[in-house]
Amino acid sequence: MSAKKILVVEDNKMNLELVSDILTAHGYEVIQASEGRQALELARTHLPDLILMDIQLPEMDGLEVTRRLKSDAGTSGIGIVALTAHAMRGDKERAQAAGCAGYIAKPIDIHEFTGIIEGYLETVSREQTS
Ligand code: MN
Repeated sequence: MSAKKILVVEDNKMNLELVSDILTAHGYEVIQASEGRQALELARTHLPDLILMDIQLPEMDGLEVTRRLKSDAGTSGIGIVALTAHAMRGDKERAQAAGCAGYIAKPIDIHEFTGIIEGYLETVSREQTS
């Protein structure tokens, strides 16, 4: 079985590297994007198994990127999990309304992180085959 591909969208370089390092260490293939348009392009060309989407991005925010991916038949099946530093009331609902399967609050808990990712990957593949 080939490695699962995860697109990590995050404009904070330290967070991007942290998340990428953890995923790479656990055998995932990681694709990185630091802004929305790049994320759209990389999602279309690589068709990752999962996207971790920072909500706060310069110019096009993660919710808008998610809406665009979900409204495009070529990418609508990709599971997207929101990443946000602002655990504000309503964030979870906004992320779900945009099409995110779930929500991970930053700073991430590095001990629980990969277990959470595995759970999302299982959910996503179950939905795609059912
Ligand atoms: Mn950000």
